[in-house]
Parts: sequence; C-alpha cells; structure tokens
Amino acid sequence: MKKILEAAAVAPLVRLPFVNRPLKEEDQFRHDLVEFGRLLHLQGYVAATDGNLSVRMSPDRVMVTPSGFSKGMMQPGEMVVVDMEGRKLSGCYNPSSEIAMHLTIYRMRPDVGAVVHAHPCTATAFASSGQALDEPLCSEIVITLGTVPLAPYATTGTAGLSESLKPFIPGHSAILMANHGVVTYGQDLRQAYLRMESVEHYARIVLAARQLGPSRSLNAQQLEELIEARTRYTRNGH
Ligand SMILES: [Zn+2]
Repeated sequence: MKKILEAAAVAPLVRLPFVNRPLKEEDQFRHDLVEFGRLLHLQGYVAATDGNLSVRMSPDRVMVTPSGFSKGMMQPGEMVVVDMEGRKLSGCYNPSSEIAMHLTIYRMRPDVGAVVHAHPCTATAFASSGQALDEPLCSEIVITLGTVPLAPYATTGTAGLSESLKPFIPGHSAILMANHGVVTYGQDLRQAYLRMESVEHYARIVLAARQLGPSRSLNAQQLEELIEARTRYTRNGH
C-alpha cells in the first residue's frame, strides 16, 4: 500500500519546463506575494514574522518576501529579487533567511513556479511529534497531494535545511519539516498556497479521526481506483 501512495504523491502528472510558460509582469508578482502572504496570516498559518513566499520570475530570477516582515502586512515595494545563487538584484531589504530552501526547490523542479513556507498549527504539531501525513484517510488528499512526508530536523536558515528536504522534493508537492513547519510548491502561487491549505486541513482531519478512535484507511484497491480516477481527470482537463 505504501508503494501505491508513494506513486500518488508524484502530484504533477505533466511537467512542463517553467520557461515554456508566459511570464507575468513584475508588478503582478509583487501583488500576488502580498495577497497570498495576507491569506497565510489570516488563516493563522504564520505568526509574527514567520514564513516566506517566493515566485520564479524567469529561469534565473526569483522574487521573495523580505526577512523580518509580518506576512499579513507587506507592501508590494518591499519584495526582494535574487538570482539563482541567492544574490540580491533589487529591493531595499534582505531576502528571507530561508531563500536557500526556495532556490533548492526551483533548481530541482523546473516545473515549479512558486514556493510557500509556513508554520500551520496542526501540521506543524505532526512535524513536531515525528509523524508524517501518510495515512490514506481521505480520498481528496490522495488525489491532490498523495502523501506528505516528514523531512528530518535541520537548523533553519542553514544549508542543512535544504539537504534534509532534497530526497523528498522530486516526488512530492508538500513536505513536513521536523520540529519546524511545512513547505509547499506548485506551478504558481495560487497552487502552492492551496496546497498549504490542503496539508493543514488534512492534518486536522487525521487528528480528529484519531481522537474518535481507530481510523479506517482506504485499502489498496480503493487507492488504485483513486489514482486511476485522478489520471483520468487530469487527462480530461478537470
Ligand atoms: Zn520556518
């Protein structure tokens, strides 16, 4: 059953190189970062100056939220543009201290156009108790995310954090970071943000189901049918 779920976790079925997609205007990226940062804050997925978001502007440039700012109170002009080595190209502030993690994901996944990192309470509680979200309890999550693995603990803002995520980046769209939080990514900010919502929502469901008693996972045949259904939906453009 684990193998079936691992296969389901490879969420994007069609992986187009980012360079083939039309690029948005820089102003639009700035507004998107402000808007989705505000949503992260409103949902309670970040507190104080926690979390960070970024978008890939072009094959060699990334726009990221500034270090030390509340994600609920940012202005478009406060964003920082860096190259793929993390060197600042424009902006008045320092880029997020976790920019290296974002760049690692962009380098390993040419299909990814945006990365979101936050500390949503329930999912972070799972990450802090050493538990991945890999129990197939809800059909929707199997279709949208597959499994959400748990990366080993590493100190925030260090190269070790990127190293701890590397084994999971190619086959997943969302990763729990032990004793820290969650990182999600997708083709654009909307998709990366919605995956953060899905992870936290699923963590709440798993927690509630366990409080009710022994939970009932989907069986191997049900999982195979779900993955088959997902392939069909994707092919038909749903
Ligand atoms: Zn963090």
